[in-house]
Amino acid sequence: MVVKKEDEILMKSMLEDDPNSNESVVTEKPRWGPQHAGAKELAGQYTMGKRIQETICLFTAIGLIIWNFTNLARYFQPENWYFILVSAILGILTADFFSGLVHWGADTWGSVELPILGKGFIRPFREHHIDPTSITRHDFIETNGDNFAVIVPFLAQMTYKFWTLSPEQIAATYNWECYVYFIAVFVSLTNQFHKWSHTYFGLPKWITMLQDYHIILPKKHHRIHHVSPHETYFCITTGWLNYPLEKIRFWTTLESLIESSTGNKPRADDFKWASKTH
Ligand SMILES: [Zn+2]
Ligand SMILES: [Zn+2]
Repeated sequence: MVVKKEDEILMKSMLEDDPNSNESVVTEKPRWGPQHAGAKELAGQYTMGKRIQETICLFTAIGLIIWNFTNLARYFQPENWYFILVSAILGILTADFFSGLVHWGADTWGSVELPILGKGFIRPFREHHIDPTSITRHDFIETNGDNFAVIVPFLAQMTYKFWTLSPEQIAATYNWECYVYFIAVFVSLTNQFHKWSHTYFGLPKWITMLQDYHIILPKKHHRIHHVSPHETYFCITTGWLNYPLEKIRFWTTLESLIESSTGNKPRADDFKWASKTH
């Protein structure tokens, strides 16, 4: 049932060898890709300051991931494995939901002109719609810097707890810490999974296998989001929540609520960048 719907949408979207959808869009629509005027302008706004911030956050986050892992391993009790499995599944689902919420928020509202948030945070989302494969040309730091930044405060707080609490206090909240840890790790990996879902050549076999079994975001699944006007399938960690959220019309309902209370039109800025011709 799900596959059928995906196939139907795919026929209207991108071809396997044309992830930028240049061949299949209707002629009066803009032709996506690095040559698009809006894409060029947005790519040019990636600054040295942003690069430095990303590098610092990335290394801090990796240090905290390793440090907290050694602490979680130290207090691990084998008879507790079942709870850890449950916290892993819930952690992945929570990360997938957050990926959708943040992605939806940035795609749908705000603008590149907003102070601080605009250029640093919203710009990559606009660039990604008009040049979807630019992400495959970004290196590890540009791809993952923002996501690693988000997890730093949470993992720093966890480190502080391991440092200051007694072993009894740690045992009492151990399952919760595992849950938070899994969220953090999957949030940090989200844009890497997203990048792989746009990578059509040279992926190692084990990554395509993870995609084929839908353990991480599959290519075919994520292409549904890339059908203009980009209004569904926002979850990009594993994509597990996309179908149920679409079924309950989660994003459409949120958008109607916001539009009726604020008067703002969803995707107004995204549409402006997509229509840019010079
Ligand atoms: Zn998007
Ligand atoms: Zn994408």
